[in-house]
Amino acid sequence: MNYTSDNTYKQETKKSPQNIAQNIGQNKVVESFSNYYSKLRNFYSTNTVFSRLNNVGQVLPNSWTAKCLKLPLPTATNIPVLYSTNLKFASYANLLMCKSIWLCPFCSKKITNFRRKELKELIADPGLLSSMLTLTIQHSKKDSLKGLLDQLTTSLRNLKNSKKFKSHMQEVGIIGTVRGLEIIYGENGWNAHYHIILIANRELAGIEFNEDFAKALWAKIVRRTNGYASKKYGLKYSPGRDNVNLYASKWGLDQELTSQKSSHGINPFQMLDNLTPTNIKLFQEYAAAIKGRKQLLYSKGLKKILKMAVVSDKTITEDVSKFDVIIALITREGWTNILDKQVRGELLAVASTGDINELFNYLSHVLTRDQFKIINEYISQVQK
Ligand SMILES: [Zn+2]
Repeated sequence: MNYTSDNTYKQETKKSPQNIAQNIGQNKVVESFSNYYSKLRNFYSTNTVFSRLNNVGQVLPNSWTAKCLKLPLPTATNIPVLYSTNLKFASYANLLMCKSIWLCPFCSKKITNFRRKELKELIADPGLLSSMLTLTIQHSKKDSLKGLLDQLTTSLRNLKNSKKFKSHMQEVGIIGTVRGLEIIYGENGWNAHYHIILIANRELAGIEFNEDFAKALWAKIVRRTNGYASKKYGLKYSPGRDNVNLYASKWGLDQELTSQKSSHGINPFQMLDNLTPTNIKLFQEYAAAIKGRKQLLYSKGLKKILKMAVVSDKTITEDVSKFDVIIALITREGWTNILDKQVRGELLAVASTGDINELFNYLSHVLTRDQFKIINEYISQVQK
């Protein structure tokens, strides 16, 4: 069967696959993108990510995430299914991406995978020394997440603005920080904490970081927000690249597609696996509380000092440059069918096998013949 010589399709839609390729490949590829897709290879093999995404739609029906990977872009005449021959992995294009690192099981996975790699590259830089601070505030079931986050944010701001702390950071030779925010829910209710990677220039590195001083200062600062941080456990200093590396390697992975509970509790995405009234309420509280907050934040100017490329979440989520083949086009009507049947994940799993005949059989099974077109054509314009 020759799927590629189909001129009828081109006339009907007034758009050649090449034109589509130009459109979808327009997000500039940044060098450091490299192979982060490879980690996602098994991503579609289960339907979990899509079942969680569907459940966000139920819990937060008016959110952008409810429309993520559902709503075709206004200009789209069809939904291309793309394939990477190198990574053996398929993806959709021409769909809205919500880019929500906190709420979207799909977008957050793409973003955290990229950011983790970026972070690991930074830590591996032989000219830099890295260490880490972990900052917590005591919490109980009575605390709202918003209240905890506000306390944590205010306390961190006050710590950073403290003259004593600033001058100590200078003595240590810190040129910048990378701050990560993590949220879980456990026996004692919400737990929010910061990890702060301290980056020092090896040549400028001065005295050792004074953990006792920082512990006492953190406890004092938190008390001013009417919160409590234990002098012993509120702040923890972990020196050395190994500790930081371990953190960076695991960063974001707690939100993996796992149903396993960590010893500290469950992450918000795990609440989506079981939509009990409690979990729905908790996820809604979480969504309202994290609005506008950053998950990973580089201190001002750090990326510039280190000559790191600034890659936006939008670029990461919308990037399709690794895909070199358009294997199928689904009409908008066909797409509505795919959504109704809730087979977004299944279709990608089949497409990810790279078996065109199998994909043809599958699509013939779920759609009518005029709702899809097998293309199987190389996109020459995008980077392979
Ligand atoms: Zn999304």
